[in-house]
Amino acid sequence: MAGTFTLRVVSPEGNVLKEEAEFVVLPGETGEVGILPNHAPLITALGIGVIRYTVNSKVEKIATSGGFVEVSDNKVTVLADTAEPGDKIDLERAIAAKERAETRLAHRTDGIDSRRAELALLRAVARIHAAQD
Ligand code: ATP
Repeated sequence: MAGTFTLRVVSPEGNVLKEEAEFVVLPGETGEVGILPNHAPLITALGIGVIRYTVNSKVEKIATSGGFVEVSDNKVTVLADTAEPGDKIDLERAIAAKERAETRLAHRTDGIDSRRAELALLRAVARIHAAQD
């Protein structure tokens, strides 16, 4: 095995995860960011999407809606606006949120509400992806 690093995910709700991980792919604001052990120091903003990480060769998923990641000293710390592990996601709630956002977008009236609906749609889709295998 090539080694591990400490992956921590915290959100305003509290500690979401602390694991020795082999690999993580994060939804960076400008594209996916893959991190292996002993990565160079990095601070970058996250967008809405799915964090995929590997522990004992098993891939796990966390839905997130943005925040920051800091990499230093073989530690990866995610400060997330929201973060839900796949098995904690209420799939029906996410599907309902997706349908609500799609309905709003189909009847869009002004720019600000459209943007809110677009972001809600992205969050719902990320949650659905993280909840499903
Ligand atoms: P909804 O319209 O269903 O509330 P939302 O995208 O507006 O969705 P957020 O504002 O992003 O929700 O999140 C509010 C809180 O609810 C956060 O703590 C988030 O982790 C949690 N949350 C949102 N959707 C889900 C879900 N489907 N399953 C579990 N937790 C969720």
